[in-house]
Amino acid sequence: MLSAPVRRILAAVTLPAILALSSCTAGPGQAIHVRQVAAGQPSPATPSPTPSTSPSPTAKPAPGSLAWYVSQVPTFPEAPPPQPVQLPATGPAPIWHRLPTDQKVAFITIDDGGLARPPAVPDFIWQAHIPVTMFLNSPAAEEHDVYFRQIEVAGGVVENHTIRHTSLPGRSYDHQKQEICGAADKLEALFGKRPTLFRPPFGEHDTTTLQAAHDCGAKAVFHWSETVHEGKVRYQTPEKVVHPGDVLLMHFRPALMDDLLAALKAIHRAGLTPALLEDYVR
Ligand SMILES: [Zn+2]
Repeated sequence: MLSAPVRRILAAVTLPAILALSSCTAGPGQAIHVRQVAAGQPSPATPSPTPSTSPSPTAKPAPGSLAWYVSQVPTFPEAPPPQPVQLPATGPAPIWHRLPTDQKVAFITIDDGGLARPPAVPDFIWQAHIPVTMFLNSPAAEEHDVYFRQIEVAGGVVENHTIRHTSLPGRSYDHQKQEICGAADKLEALFGKRPTLFRPPFGEHDTTTLQAAHDCGAKAVFHWSETVHEGKVRYQTPEKVVHPGDVLLMHFRPALMDDLLAALKAIHRAGLTPALLEDYVR
């Protein structure tokens, strides 16, 4: 996570201002753009703060407002410099429930995209510097590309979750490749970057899935370690704690603001820092 001075710099720049500044609308430059601002580059000459994002120092934000959500985000320890994991040199893509790392980080992933897209989420992700990976179905990404591009500008990364979100195991290689490569092609055309990670619908896969994912450009396939729904974290292990490398799954659903906040608090309780999956799988 970023230091306090950087946080203040970023807080002064609203997401719409960044979007207006950004001449290109897609591509790997987006993440770099955010880093350039974070590194202390000149902020926009005329940032356009809105009341909801720039409360007076003494005002308490109204519960449920964007400012309130931002105020509830814990302060995290500095994330360690990422050490990318070892990937197999050949063969199908590996499947992981959690990233094989001992580094004190955990990862937030958001799936699907067709059901609901709470409007405050892009600004929340931007203002609170929440690293997110979005596993999108390509038709939803195409229909709502402006929304997902806003999250991309805020630092999020788009990855692959097939076209039709149907169960893959037992289907032919050609069928699975069409679902995975077809989505990858569309997402690459929309966002200017070919997905490098894949999550199968419902987490269901067979060996054909892993081979097809590899052949469509995926370096790794991800299941998950915890799920988050309606502001509650559900653990898959009895000790109910987030472990280093854990991958938290949530969805583009109406309670996504609460889900993001619950995930951040759970990661903080575990003494970990949220990090970007793509920094560890290269
Ligand atoms: Zn899904």
